[in-house]
Amino acid sequence: MESDLSKLCEGLKLTEEEQQEVVVSSEEVIISEAKKGKAVFKEVGRNKFLVELKEKADKKRIMQGRPWSFDKNLICLQDCEGHESWKEMQFQHEPFWVQCHDLPFAGMNANTGLNLGKSMEEVLMVDTDDSGVCWGSFLRLRVMIDLTKPLARGRFLTLGNAKYWIPFKYERLPNFCYHCGKIKHVTGMCDQLDRGKASLEGFNQQYGAWLRTSQKSFFAEGSQSRRETDQGRKSGHDQRKGDGEV
Ligand SMILES: [Zn+2]
Repeated sequence: MESDLSKLCEGLKLTEEEQQEVVVSSEEVIISEAKKGKAVFKEVGRNKFLVELKEKADKKRIMQGRPWSFDKNLICLQDCEGHESWKEMQFQHEPFWVQCHDLPFAGMNANTGLNLGKSMEEVLMVDTDDSGVCWGSFLRLRVMIDLTKPLARGRFLTLGNAKYWIPFKYERLPNFCYHCGKIKHVTGMCDQLDRGKASLEGFNQQYGAWLRTSQKSFFAEGSQSRRETDQGRKSGHDQRKGDGEV
């Protein structure tokens, strides 16, 4: 931030008055809160909104219930600390529940889940019982996904002498690009889409709706505890309840 400022000022000849520094101490900083209603939306940029919430509990529920979407498009949320401008905010990461399918029984545990999750990005939680085991048809992980990278479709897993392909499926997956597998294009356009060649017959689709899955259903809510990782605890992403669409 400071280097950006000095770069900007290099080209400007500031007057004496302009060189004066206005200092506001931390104690004087006022972070406003919604006074009326539960939430107040203010547009701060193209498709960017500042949301002020009256209750801290609402904010917690909303942040923990990510990912949210509107009309099947992801709503990317970022906690605002008050010391950054909206232009500095990247909106590059969002937590998702990822299901790991076709695991051998020996791999249905927190340790395997942690390793699979780490190979993707930051793993926040592995959904297991108190003993760190998951007896179900898949293992479930909460992972912080980089929206500018292609979604991981699976991983090879070696257990002992055997090697397995573990396909991934994503819960509440919003619209994403079937050409490159990214949820967000940095430039707004797909750099892998060759419009001249992409025809319905010739296009070999590498990504598709098959990466989506419905939410976990084989256990009743709350029947399992979740093994939160250190990363997850620090980040404060820890609940599944409230995952939703608006
Ligand atoms: Zn794309």
